[in-house]
Amino acid sequence: QPRYVNAVAALDTALPPLQLLDALQAIELGQGRERKAERWGPRSLDLDILLFGDRLIDEPRLQVPHYHLHARAFVLYPLAELAPPDLQLADGRRLDALLAACPFEGLQRLD
Ligand code: ATP
Ligand code: CA
Ligand code: CA
Repeated sequence: QPRYVNAVAALDTALPPLQLLDALQAIELGQGRERKAERWGPRSLDLDILLFGDRLIDEPRLQVPHYHLHARAFVLYPLAELAPPDLQLADGRRLDALLAACPFEGLQRLD
């Protein structure tokens, strides 16, 4: 797919995880996203839950930490701008170790 913009945000919420996912998916639909059979293709908006505090979640509709977090430079580097450098994920992995294993390749930082 063509180049895309990615960002990481931190939020406080009173919603439990699955209700937060519902809310994010409602925003995606509100922005005109169509659910297609093809995954990972171009779309108007994709809102994923990377982390939920220190919760480990494994539900049919929701896995947290996000299952592909460790392999995606476009997720790890923006996350590292918000998170403390010694952040430890609920599954024990450390953010700094994930970054060290994931080169900044192919990314362009937008100011
Ligand atoms: P990827 O998950 O590889 O980033 P994607 O974001 O393109 O792919 P979607 O089609 O947006 O995939 O979502 C498919 C399903 O993934 C969602 O309907 C949701 O139930 C599920 N899902 C599982 N874990 C998460 C998570 N941490 N955040 C968002 N959705 C998740
Ligand atoms: Ca995604
Ligand atoms: Ca998604």
